[in-house]
Amino acid sequence: MSYLDLSTEDLKKELSKLKSEMEEIKALELNLDLSRGKPDKEQLNLSMEMLNTVNSKSILDAESGMDCRNYGGLDGIPEAKQLMADMMGTRPENVIVGGNSSLTLMYDIISHAMTDGLLGEKPWCQVEDRKFLCPAPGYDRHFAITEHFGMKLIPVPMNENGPDMDVVEELVSSDDTIKGIWCVPKYENPMGIVFSDETIQRFANLKPLAKDFRIFWDNAYCVHSIYQNEETDIPDIISECEKAGNPDMVYEFCSTSKITFPGSGISAVASSPANLIDIKGFLKYATIGPDKINQLRHVRYFKNIAGIKAHMAKHADILRPKFEAVDKILNDELNGLGIAEWTKPNGGYFISFNTLKGCASDTVTLCSKMGVAFTPAGATYPYGNDPEDQNIRIAPTFANMKDIKLATKIFALSVKIVTLEKLIN
Ligand code: PLP
Repeated sequence: MSYLDLSTEDLKKELSKLKSEMEEIKALELNLDLSRGKPDKEQLNLSMEMLNTVNSKSILDAESGMDCRNYGGLDGIPEAKQLMADMMGTRPENVIVGGNSSLTLMYDIISHAMTDGLLGEKPWCQVEDRKFLCPAPGYDRHFAITEHFGMKLIPVPMNENGPDMDVVEELVSSDDTIKGIWCVPKYENPMGIVFSDETIQRFANLKPLAKDFRIFWDNAYCVHSIYQNEETDIPDIISECEKAGNPDMVYEFCSTSKITFPGSGISAVASSPANLIDIKGFLKYATIGPDKINQLRHVRYFKNIAGIKAHMAKHADILRPKFEAVDKILNDELNGLGIAEWTKPNGGYFISFNTLKGCASDTVTLCSKMGVAFTPAGATYPYGNDPEDQNIRIAPTFANMKDIKLATKIFALSVKIVTLEKLIN
């Protein structure tokens, strides 16, 4: 029965029962963690064979004949461009393959916009009231980059089709100090939703007042389905922007961080010819060339996009039971109480959980007292500030199944206790 329909006396009875459960759990001095959005060891083991694709006997020439052991190849080797383009669903001529982190590429492009300006426009550091749109809940490291460069972060509400496009269109068409927007179009971090075709069309057809407005299209989870028969290819934003007459408006990113080894994968950015020239124009000062041996290792291991998809199906087999276990426990413990909602994603790394208003931070604090760590409440909002104090990001990938089940039960208990206390007071 919904907590919202119970009398104060019944709420108090329920609370005192749950509090004694809580004391028993505290005595166990647990140390569990559902905050880490990274692959577990079994997932990492899936890629160990990749390390055998290149050894001291290998000929380390790229298809182009370039010796990958040496300097050069600023924008990556052609076969890696093809692989990363196929992952993003775009064309290899639109791609630069970088080093071990797509986040670094995002940072570097914003840093370049700050100091040099984009395609002849005024450097962003000279735009006093520079602003950036941050669909929320979203990825805290995105928000942190733009905060670091002194942008005012403007939250945009998310719904099940992506960011609220009425809000985005209104804002970008009326203010030329809005310089960009963060997007994770597929299995968004943390909601797990996929942007609808209509949302993507509306993005491609934006009419920003700022000529140097850019969409940072972070397709970090482009091949990360957890249901193998679930095909969710989204339209190619690069072609859509081109068709809409906005070829330079978007940078798309991806990496193999959650395919092979986070921190030792390869990354890519895709964009228009003019933007690629612009990127290479600053990249050449930062490096003489990327780690092409690692690019070769990835291409020789996967061979093509079919190889990546077969590999991702193995990740899915590991992740699916974990996501389903969390969902089942949340359902068993919380369904019908009227105090929580959560997403059931088809891919990605997270479940997004909403408490009643004002309950999220206390829930995370109480979990921590019972020995379970969660990402701080609010982290999914610009400045770490969730105005409704509702959203909590659950990351079920890294922990083992036994810990995930126990941690989720404790989480549900914590949600109930905190909500009951709020309802009683
Ligand atoms: N983008 C998103 C949306 C992420 O969730 C993450 C990691 O969690 C990254 C980028 C980091 O990517 P990389 O390892 O390529 O820097």
